[in-house]
Amino acid sequence: MTPAEATTYFFKRAAKAMDIGERIETLLITPLREVKVQLAVELDSGEVRTFTGYRIQHDNARGPMKGGLRYHPDVSHEQMLGLASLMTWKTAVVNLPFGGAKGGISVDPHSLRPKELERLTRKYVDQVHEIIGPMRDIPAPDVSTNPQVMAWVMDQYSKYHGHSPAVVTGKPIDLYGSRGREAATGRGVALVTTEILRELGKSIQGARVAVQGFGNAGSHTARLLYEAGASIVGVADVNGALYKPTGLSVPGLFEHVKRYGTVRDYPEGQAMTNAELLACDCDVLIPAALENAITAENAAAVRAGVVVEAANGPVSPEADEALHQKGIVVVPDVLASAGGVTVSYLEWVQNNQQLSWDEERVNAELERTLKDAFAKVVALARSKNVPLRTAAYILAIGRVGKATVLRGL
Ligand code: NAD
Repeated sequence: MTPAEATTYFFKRAAKAMDIGERIETLLITPLREVKVQLAVELDSGEVRTFTGYRIQHDNARGPMKGGLRYHPDVSHEQMLGLASLMTWKTAVVNLPFGGAKGGISVDPHSLRPKELERLTRKYVDQVHEIIGPMRDIPAPDVSTNPQVMAWVMDQYSKYHGHSPAVVTGKPIDLYGSRGREAATGRGVALVTTEILRELGKSIQGARVAVQGFGNAGSHTARLLYEAGASIVGVADVNGALYKPTGLSVPGLFEHVKRYGTVRDYPEGQAMTNAELLACDCDVLIPAALENAITAENAAAVRAGVVVEAANGPVSPEADEALHQKGIVVVPDVLASAGGVTVSYLEWVQNNQQLSWDEERVNAELERTLKDAFAKVVALARSKNVPLRTAAYILAIGRVGKATVLRGL
């Protein structure tokens, strides 16, 4: 299933349990705007290359739309569509005054030099500046984009519309970014992991955790869980995986990744493939890389008792069902990976008020928001006897549906 089909499947499963009717269902699932742009960029060599970019705006009933900007060769209209819709449900689960969107460029960013990447980013903003904006649609970092890319987005947008720090979040601290944003997604995943273990009568202390993906989401998740007393038994990135049953030294791993750009060849544990990591002996498995990491093909091999989705859409609908049948608890992306968008919201709030909060305040707000959402989702799952994902979608669909009806057609 494509990401768009997967989100629609999860949406419909929850909508059916709510009995919202076909009319509202169609209204909520249909995207508001789908934009595709061609970006001609001059490379340092003088050669001109053309890339395709997208911005899909799914729903704005609850506020300006919000969603990441991804640079990856697999970026497609279909992928953006699914991830944009997912953002509508994610912002609603954590009760932020935002809708959902997603954007990206089909490019291998590692094949471009920094100046080329900057020109590509500015070209993209040239093409979408009329449909984004602090009160319209606010991009943020996603796969292979970072605070520097967000700084270029802010600068280019401001050339058209005047000084506009709130047009994009995940900016560098020195340029209107928020303290705590860099680690926010991982902090949220770590928090939700601790909460779900507590809910199951277990402790984070000594829990054996494997993390697939060691970028922004995965690395901070591993670090914060390690600091909380968990044992990080496995990690992986696109170059390979590592496994050590007694737990890896995460600070050393961070140093290694900083130096070599990959977890591969870290002199601890045994090397393995990504497929082996997903099937490794652990208590908690955290997919923090891309969509469809766990599918019908490999779901049976998962040995963890709990799967926490740090990535967007890492478990396909078929795999979700298979994991459920095996009694594996899945904490869904719309809740588990909402820490990033929550602190993005706090960054937007600070930008709009020309304020800069300290990190303690940001982290406290993040913790309060996620704990509240977690408690509501767990309570709904219990009262309706449905999995956490369905409960999270029920919560979100209820909120977006109400806003839609109140605003009127
Ligand atoms: P990133 O570019 O910082 O890191 C991606 C990581 O995944 C890298 O370590 C990369 O090597 C690894 N990876 C890529 N392909 C892989 C593969 N086939 N097998 C194993 N590892 C692979 O990206 P990120 O921002 O950490 O995003 C990761 C996921 O988290 C995405 O699904 C993204 O949508 C989601 N997410 C990110 C944020 C955020 O704030 N950055 C917020 C919410 C959700």
